[in-house]
Amino acid sequence: MRKAVGPIARRSEVIRQQRERGGWVAAVLPIHYPRALLRSFDLLPIEVWGPPGIDPDHGAAHVQAYVCSIVRNALSFILSGGLDVADVIMVPHTCDSLQGLGSLLLDLVRPRQPVVPFYLPRGERECDIQFLAEEFRAISRQLEEITGRSPSLLELIECVKRDEEADGLLGSLHHRRNELALNSYEFYRVLRAREYLPSEDFVELARSCLACAAEAPNVGVPLILSGIVPEPMSMLALIDELGARIVADDLACCGRRLYPNGVSEDPFVRMAERIVRSAPDPTRGSPLADRSEHLLRLAAGSEARAVVFHGVKFCEPELFDLPVLREELKRAGLPSVIIEVDLNDPLSHQVRTRLEALLEMIR
Ligand code: SF4
Repeated sequence: MRKAVGPIARRSEVIRQQRERGGWVAAVLPIHYPRALLRSFDLLPIEVWGPPGIDPDHGAAHVQAYVCSIVRNALSFILSGGLDVADVIMVPHTCDSLQGLGSLLLDLVRPRQPVVPFYLPRGERECDIQFLAEEFRAISRQLEEITGRSPSLLELIECVKRDEEADGLLGSLHHRRNELALNSYEFYRVLRAREYLPSEDFVELARSCLACAAEAPNVGVPLILSGIVPEPMSMLALIDELGARIVADDLACCGRRLYPNGVSEDPFVRMAERIVRSAPDPTRGSPLADRSEHLLRLAAGSEARAVVFHGVKFCEPELFDLPVLREELKRAGLPSVIIEVDLNDPLSHQVRTRLEALLEMIR
């Protein structure tokens, strides 16, 4: 297969470079957060989606057995020193589990770094934007105290615009994925570099990928991937192996974060607009009708023939929506399957069997 992208810098390398130039690092829990605000304080956001494949025991001692593996692993990682490199830990109140993690870190198992929690609104009204902008102003005041820095509004708006450029290119990668001659595994490695590369470096990476784009043959049964995060990544290799391809996604770490540009000249409001006006997301309280319309629109635009709901075990925001959402999609002629994983487990035979059964039905 033609390679459209060279090696992608690893997280550890990116962190080392940030440190060498005197910058700071913020470890950020999922999903939505003010990336530009952190950058304006020279804090490089490094997202923590678990990580997968670590010893979860340190965290398991502090959380209930029915807490998802993203939260359990993140707590283990923090307690075992995996995030010692971070100067700040940011915990958005994405769901009950992350809210619980934020409380634990603030009150019971305090890490050495300051913990910055914040709330996200569960709606898309003007007042939701204003609420989120206020949350971002409060974070800004907290970061001033932590870092002793005080970026100007001009510096902040420049960071917001840099993010908008990077997210615009992220959108181009999504929309032109068929032209990139990358298999699913390679493609998601590029997309997920947005989780830790500085925006300006991601811009470079995305441009180099798009520069190599060419009409590639559309092979494989077209699928939409929905859920939180495509872990284990071997699941993507399995999709390739089974002769399918992901033509669009509704993943919390990817497609739900194709943030549109903001319009306000106030950088705090503009950051809030971008998040509040992004794709429907159960953790932001999006109505089911919006979610099914969004998925059907994605299917119509990409010719997807089915949806794979790839969930993390015990993820309540995702699980609550699925019965009704799947019924709606089925009524509209779009079949789906659910596969559930724990970040620490290898890919099971059950996942393979479910995917094979789905593909047999729609081929
Ligand atoms: S996987 Fe679900 S429950 Fe776990 S942190 Fe993410 S949104 Fe919350």
